[in-house]
Amino acid sequence: MIEIRDLHKRFGELEVLKGIDTTVEEGEVVCLIGASGSGKSTLLRCVNGLETYEAGEIVFAGTRVDARSSDIRALRTHVTMVFQRFNLFPHRTALENVTEGPIYVKGEPRNEARDRGLALLERMGLAEKAQAYPTQLSGGQQQRVAIARALAMRPKAILFDEPTSALDPELVGEVLGAMRSLADEGMTMLVVTHEMAFARDVADRVLFMHDGRILEEGLPSDILSNPKEARTRDFLSRIL
Ligand code: ATP
Ligand code: MG
Repeated sequence: MIEIRDLHKRFGELEVLKGIDTTVEEGEVVCLIGASGSGKSTLLRCVNGLETYEAGEIVFAGTRVDARSSDIRALRTHVTMVFQRFNLFPHRTALENVTEGPIYVKGEPRNEARDRGLALLERMGLAEKAQAYPTQLSGGQQQRVAIARALAMRPKAILFDEPTSALDPELVGEVLGAMRSLADEGMTMLVVTHEMAFARDVADRVLFMHDGRILEEGLPSDILSNPKEARTRDFLSRIL
């Protein structure tokens, strides 16, 4: 569903992605791990069309991802993103955050968007928080609203960029639980995370990024327990 071929991306002099090749199949959950600065967020942002790239290509469900093309907004309804920092609209309720995209981007009728938004919030365990504003919600609740908002676009895939790393430890589990249930339902997911237990249990495949390249990829059991590369071992020993 997401094909990435020889992707190169630079910020000025700094080459951040140095030839990324990988494919995420429909229904697959892929976890992306690697040190700070290795290019994980940049890769996700390229897939979502938030960044341009200089060479190689990304093809999403048969369409080339081009941040400069006029149909990039349509692409972003098919592949939505959940960020590390809660990026909900502060002056909108949880429900309004969830229905904004369907109403204004996809042109869904308000009533339908609202019913579906409520159902998604309920699914995230937030039925009673529909009218709450982001500041009235815990970090974990805000992230679950963000996931409901991503789902409201009926995406074919969701990208997660360290969705739990800004949360207090006791709130991490509820967000990972919501992600796990999406994975169980067959959602295609590309997840940057340092939650190794999640990667081990939920991922179909783990990619280890180092300095703009995928140094190693494979089954979670292989990459996390039996890495071949010294750099992967070194990274894991520092975070586990
Ligand atoms: P972290 O684990 O800290 O989130 P990361 O793997 O997500 O790191 P990126 O955010 O993709 O890393 O950044 C990769 C490199 O690109 C870093 O050296 C970063 O400073 C640089 N970079 C990222 N965004 C920009 C930008 N908009 N302009 C210039 N340099 C950037
Ligand atoms: Mg990042």
